[in-house]
Amino acid sequence: MRTKIVAGNWKMNKTPAEARVLIAGIRSILDGTNCPVEVVVCPPLVDLTVAAEALKGSFIGLGAQNMHAAASGAYTGEVSAQMLVETGVKYVILGHSERRALFGETDAQVNAKTKAALAAGLVPIVCVGETLEERESNRTDAVVTAQVMGSLADLGADLARCVVAYEPVWAIGTGRTATPGQAQEVHALIRRMLAKMSTGQVANTVRIQYGGSMKPDNAAELMAQPDIDGGLIGGASLKAESFADIVKAAC
Ligand code: PEP
Repeated sequence: MRTKIVAGNWKMNKTPAEARVLIAGIRSILDGTNCPVEVVVCPPLVDLTVAAEALKGSFIGLGAQNMHAAASGAYTGEVSAQMLVETGVKYVILGHSERRALFGETDAQVNAKTKAALAAGLVPIVCVGETLEERESNRTDAVVTAQVMGSLADLGADLARCVVAYEPVWAIGTGRTATPGQAQEVHALIRRMLAKMSTGQVANTVRIQYGGSMKPDNAAELMAQPDIDGGLIGGASLKAESFADIVKAAC
């Protein structure tokens, strides 16, 4: 049995002071619930120190939204895996579609970041997903397969420590969710790809989250699918109640 994992991607929202308030709100609902789900919040970079402090004593983990693959050096504006680790971060979102589309991140870069994250002991949450145009031209399987094979290449046994997030780009922030059947189909494809890249045992260990307009009212049905092991939540993670309701739907 895979432990479900629900992560909130706050994107570029919430100042440090607002982060403290949101985390307190999430904790006031979820602390003490005996929910066997891994819960993660991923605030903006400058919120991480405050967030780590606000999460002390909680079962909720802290994640970042990006990092650089190099350990250090002349990379103005970037941060390394070790810097995140020393800030209390345990997870890092990599290859989000916004980073791929707006900042030109390639599968090779995501792969290098994934290796660096694993080497530092972080859990990478590696995002893949097709655009609307790719889905409508029946290229979903080819696009997602290429992203999985490229972004998760050559990880050996460490592949088992990765989380994959299937996020159809057309569903992110649009209010248009993949149906449970559509999502399950791609999740099953991803698991088959992971088995080909490693072993069936490793593929069965990897958690595959769904992301794309997941809300309290559709979360339970999506996460009831056999290969959907949680959610990566954008908009609905910015309110304590809606994020906590999605976590409860995974319990
Ligand atoms: C995301 O950006 O990872 C995401 C899933 O966003 P939303 O839930 O707002 O669609």
